[in-house]
Amino acid sequence: MSIINAPRGTRDILPGESWKWSYIIRTASEAMNDFGFSEIHLPIFEHTELFSRGVGETTDIVEKEMYTFNDQGGRSITLRPEATAGVMRAAIENNLCVQGASAKLWNWGPMFRHERPQKGRYRQFYQIDAECLGIPNAAADVEVIALSIEIFRRLGLKNLEVVINSVGCEKCRPIYREKLLKYFEAHKNNLCETCLNRLERNPLRILDCKKEACGLIAEGAPDIYDSLCDECREHFAEVRAGLERLGFAYKLNKRLVRGLDYYTKTAYEILSGDLGAQNAVAGGGRYDNLSSAIGGGKIPGVGFACGLDRIMLVMEEQGCSFGKAPEVLVYSVTLDDSSRPAVQILTHELRKNNIAAACDTSGRSFKAQMKSASACKFACIIGPDELAGNSASIKNLQDGSQVLVALKDIPDYIKNLSRICHA
Ligand code: AMP
Repeated sequence: MSIINAPRGTRDILPGESWKWSYIIRTASEAMNDFGFSEIHLPIFEHTELFSRGVGETTDIVEKEMYTFNDQGGRSITLRPEATAGVMRAAIENNLCVQGASAKLWNWGPMFRHERPQKGRYRQFYQIDAECLGIPNAAADVEVIALSIEIFRRLGLKNLEVVINSVGCEKCRPIYREKLLKYFEAHKNNLCETCLNRLERNPLRILDCKKEACGLIAEGAPDIYDSLCDECREHFAEVRAGLERLGFAYKLNKRLVRGLDYYTKTAYEILSGDLGAQNAVAGGGRYDNLSSAIGGGKIPGVGFACGLDRIMLVMEEQGCSFGKAPEVLVYSVTLDDSSRPAVQILTHELRKNNIAAACDTSGRSFKAQMKSASACKFACIIGPDELAGNSASIKNLQDGSQVLVALKDIPDYIKNLSRICHA
């Protein structure tokens, strides 16, 4: 371990990448707005019990992936491994869904899971998350799925696949669980060690084991669709009809159970063909029992989270556009030391006029300053002659043309020029 290396599974998002992140978040935020979702900001740490009760004691996340510690007051605290439980907690605490009210909320930020790092899998990763609370109807599921697809459409992601399933509810899942348990018991000798451990605790999780031998056994497992109660069956049919109505292609995957216990009815993922093993760019579903599991009343919910790190990987891979990189429009340059104060004032005036401007602050030569200016559209050059005339020479660095402009007129002059350049 070296203290000048970031901890394993974490990384720095440096300037070359950070503006692309901002673009993704801006695009997602606009889509959220258009779908009527409001942004919220939540704590990055919560009481450990929120996740153990909300996400589920038998999930990988709670069993082995959480960053949990006791704070100075002896309370068990966990860095959030996912956003949904925190959003639900906030909705309960702040009475956002009382008397049948609904809330459409989104947020983004870092999540923490102690997983084995690999391409697209980090210990600190970033999610964009949307949750629709208070509405039990399938139309809300459709809206949430449509929102996630719309974000990816706006970002220009191609080659995606929407996979959906129903995982039943508290009425029908126990029956299915029993059927599964019986089936897997009979194949116990061929299951991997992890699945053997899951057998009693959470046999549904065996369905999505990535090991080949377990996968083959899971293929022959009882079908969840045969166990769904009428309500879940109807809900699922409505979700599917809704997606079809909006023209979305999707695949059914009866083995998609996802790693979080709180899902009821709809579970879905959006997969990318350009990601390798960690191919899910988004995952979500309905969680009608989460609220009661964490001590709130009955608040149904449906939502999704997409992985910002993975969206970024796919967009780079597919050559998607990130919009325009931020750039400094004007670089002000001194010919000699006597005009340094004038350059400083001019740069300040330009910035006050919302013009992206920069100048040298380390006393470099004219040549070195012009080199920095070459990355900009205009250079404002001030030497003794310009200074005497309260003016600057404005050099258009694209066509090399140069004009003398009074200092006080420069902001308007640049605004007009850049308007013409952009026209
Ligand atoms: P989940 O909360 O597990 O349903 O994950 C939702 C989405 O978050 C996934 O589809 C991924 O895009 C992303 N994600 C989950 N875990 C990680 C991780 N360890 N590193 C990077 N992205 C992740």
